[in-house]
Amino acid sequence: MPEIAIVGRPNVGKSALFNRLVGRRIAIVHDMPGVTRDRIAAPSQLTKTACTIVDTGGIGAMLDDGFGAQVTTEADIAMSTADLILFVVDAQDGLTTIDQSLAQRMRKAKGKVQLIVNKADNAEADAVIGDFARMGFGAGLPVSAAHGKGMQQLADTIDGHVAHLEQEREDAEEKVSREGLKIAIIGRPNAGKSSLTNAILKDDRTIVSEVAGTTRDSIDIPYERLGEQHTIIDTAGIRRRTKMDSSVEVFSSMRAERSIRRADICLLVIDVAAGVTAQDRKIARMVLAEKKPCVIVLNKFDLYHPDGNRSARLEEAEEHVRKELFFLAYAPFVAVSAKNRQSVGLVFEQITYIRKQAQNVIGTGQLNRLLQDSMQKYPPQAKKGQKRMKLLYATTAVNDHYTAIPVPTYVLFVNDKRLLAESYEQYLANRIREHFDTPGVPVTFSVRSRN
Ligand code: GDP
Repeated sequence: MPEIAIVGRPNVGKSALFNRLVGRRIAIVHDMPGVTRDRIAAPSQLTKTACTIVDTGGIGAMLDDGFGAQVTTEADIAMSTADLILFVVDAQDGLTTIDQSLAQRMRKAKGKVQLIVNKADNAEADAVIGDFARMGFGAGLPVSAAHGKGMQQLADTIDGHVAHLEQEREDAEEKVSREGLKIAIIGRPNAGKSSLTNAILKDDRTIVSEVAGTTRDSIDIPYERLGEQHTIIDTAGIRRRTKMDSSVEVFSSMRAERSIRRADICLLVIDVAAGVTAQDRKIARMVLAEKKPCVIVLNKFDLYHPDGNRSARLEEAEEHVRKELFFLAYAPFVAVSAKNRQSVGLVFEQITYIRKQAQNVIGTGQLNRLLQDSMQKYPPQAKKGQKRMKLLYATTAVNDHYTAIPVPTYVLFVNDKRLLAESYEQYLANRIREHFDTPGVPVTFSVRSRN
């Protein structure tokens, strides 16, 4: 459900506005353990469309910082969680420096900020409207929460925004189903990318539906598989087409990078008979840097210890790859023989599972409970003479949810981000991965603090 956050400095009338919008039926959202005050949220009663109104006032107070710092923290939280921000100012006080620092903070989220000029009860208010307009969020909507003035216009404005969001979501969904899943097949020369592409395209369950398109870096091959639309981004295809020798792949890493960027998911092909090389690691690092979902495809499995039993060999291969590509721990892997067109179905089973699981985006309440619990079990160590890292609030960023495989960013609000050690971040990432089964998708954090 769309979330509408009310942001503003203390005493501008955020609570009054909140009460008007929700018809005073206040529900407290218990999603902030360890925080002095719970975030207040309730379903909107005034709008035609269903949405949740959130009053951010007070969240920032958990920081023992100054006044201005509190409200900018609230604005940060609103920016990463809300679909629309009602930025409330006070017509009787006029423009203040805190308003200005809030405006500064929210400029990068300008598209989703609606300026509300509250306490616009009398003609004098008109005089300050111009001052507010200079903040760069338009003239603002004059209302009086106390007297119920301008509430219909406010409801209409919210409805307009929500309708726009809905349209965006529908367009994105339509685009995803039209283009299908974009799968990049990447790996070092001779790993078997071409063979895997061929194995997929020649598989019984695949119908190559249209003519392939060529980009500078790859050949895009659209096809259908079990009723689902997919596109293979075939980086090896360019080499085949231009009859370039495979050893002269001068631009291959640049090409791989651009293909990875365009993909919804990457199939990283490793020649398991040769083992993981420096070049494999380099490509794997690109996948991580682009935060892309990934499946590691151990190819040429037919050549790997041909006389052992399959499951024992698989374990051994897994251990080697896991060790060499430890930073890609989120990627599941599949052993295939592209040349013999063996186990191609397994690759798609993984892709389907990853895609399904990725739709479960972790709720803010669940995330905070898990992280607070993890921090209690194994508290971060404070270095001598330093403060201990404190997690104030965590949330899942809402951007980019409308792709075929959404990759969430977990936003952590901490007292001081310099106190968050990389190993501790890794620990938290592992806990998230253990608790929420979203294989193939990287767990990434965005850490915010005042320092
Ligand atoms: P690319 O450069 O990554 O596209 O690699 P190719 O698909 O051209 O494969 C390189 C070489 O490995 C070719 O000689 C393939 O026949 C061979 N190859 C690919 N997959 C397999 C496999 O699963 N098993 C075996 N034994 N050889 C394979």
